[in-house]
Amino acid sequence: MAATKKNSNTKKSNTIKLKFDTSWQYAPAPENKKSATINKQYELFINGQWQKPLSKKYFDTINPANEEKLSKVAWANEVDVDKAVKAARHAYENIWKNMPAKERAKYIFRIARIMQEKARELAIIESLDGGKPIRESRDFDIPTAANHFFYYAGWTDKLAFAFPNRQTSPLGVAGQIIPWNFPLLMAAWKIAPALATGNTVVIKSAESTPLTLLKLAEIIEEAELPPGVVNILSGAGDTGAAIVNHPDVNKIAFTGSTEVGKIIQKAIAGTQKKVTLELGGKAANIIFEDAAIDQAVEGVINGIFFNQGHVCCAGSRLYVQESILKEVVRKLKDRLESLIVGDPLDKNTDIGAINSKAQLDVIHKYIDIGKKEGAEFYQSSCPLPKKGYYCRPSLFTNVAQSNRIAQEEIFGPVLAVLSFRTVDEVIEKANNTPYGLSAGVWTDKGAKIFNMTTKMRAGVIWANTFNKFDPSSPFGGYKESGFGREGGLHGLLPYVNLVNE
Ligand code: ADP
Repeated sequence: MAATKKNSNTKKSNTIKLKFDTSWQYAPAPENKKSATINKQYELFINGQWQKPLSKKYFDTINPANEEKLSKVAWANEVDVDKAVKAARHAYENIWKNMPAKERAKYIFRIARIMQEKARELAIIESLDGGKPIRESRDFDIPTAANHFFYYAGWTDKLAFAFPNRQTSPLGVAGQIIPWNFPLLMAAWKIAPALATGNTVVIKSAESTPLTLLKLAEIIEEAELPPGVVNILSGAGDTGAAIVNHPDVNKIAFTGSTEVGKIIQKAIAGTQKKVTLELGGKAANIIFEDAAIDQAVEGVINGIFFNQGHVCCAGSRLYVQESILKEVVRKLKDRLESLIVGDPLDKNTDIGAINSKAQLDVIHKYIDIGKKEGAEFYQSSCPLPKKGYYCRPSLFTNVAQSNRIAQEEIFGPVLAVLSFRTVDEVIEKANNTPYGLSAGVWTDKGAKIFNMTTKMRAGVIWANTFNKFDPSSPFGGYKESGFGREGGLHGLLPYVNLVNE
């Protein structure tokens, strides 16, 4: 890491005396706003063209780190959605479903490669628009998004191996709706398997983070994907609802809140539409007394505080075996103090900006609820930038299983710490939420890991690590965390009809 030393004193003689203080200044990250091109205004990407919204409406997208406007973006209404679905249907019937699989694959590979070439710019825009630290967007979001395109491009002409002794046919037009926490990655999770299996796409970004999908539209143009195969819309809940309710959409893939997931399920009941829903979570991270404690503490920090807790699989409930509770809480508090909250484009930042004012209000509301419920509150003393939406990393101890802060999704850097004595007790407690998306187990004993993973109701369980993703691993939930899997071989299934079943 490049570093310049502060306060270096040069004496008149030839001897150079260097004085160090603890506040070294690091070289600026190469990722800065100047390295990214953001247009003043964006239209809708329909049928391979930038089209003005028939709604005639636009909305501003802002940088949550300083509340400055980044761009003005088109807001698609029902008529715009209809136009996009018609373009997707036309491309499906006339081009995409009949294209030889290996030709389809070439386009998907091309998108992946261009994403890699533009990785730095995409990372900067993801951090500017969403508030996440550049370390996350640069080292995780963008490479993993490109990897999903590579991975599914590879499956495109091998579907016969993915589903042995079965024939597959595509579903048609896929309507996809994504949230604001991982915009480009969520788009990749959804677009890549849809294209690989021969479907066409109408996708909508979240209202607070439209920019990287609009950049993806530019990449799709550059890759010369046939017009209408992927249509990219921006807008709010009404745009999403118009996609869900459009009669010519064959499949809905949604990632977002459980509340909206339920609305979608009701809306499509009685139709032929297939659906996958990836919804909220309240992951239990469990530390046993035989675990490597320092590693576990670091895993907990990574699981909830990096990325501002804006992760549906965040380890927001920590269960610590009683004998090590004091030690773990002390180490967590020490580590909280060393976390840096601030400018998302600074490579030293651990916790960036909260995505929006509305989300910051939700987090503050839950902090108040936790205090009123009688839990003990601890917050890091770090300074916060004067402008923008920020929250200091916080934790609650003495939390009861029934407390709302232990049951409901906060989606912020707020950890609820609970304790347990026995394995059976912690399994019971970990499963005792409406959600079941992910969980973590920290122990030295392999047998304990297998015991836990068979009894816990969570779609993903990490052992001695947390928040690890790979395009070949399926992801999805139980209970109110939704159903269907994205990623891996499993991620192909929601986009095909299987013949010879
Ligand atoms: P979050 O709490 O993460 O913002 P939401 O579920 O509110 O999650 O939003 C996720 C996505 O769903 C966003 O793109 C949003 O615009 C969209 N959305 C919101 N309401 C609806 C709806 N009724 N039907 C379809 N999509 C919706």
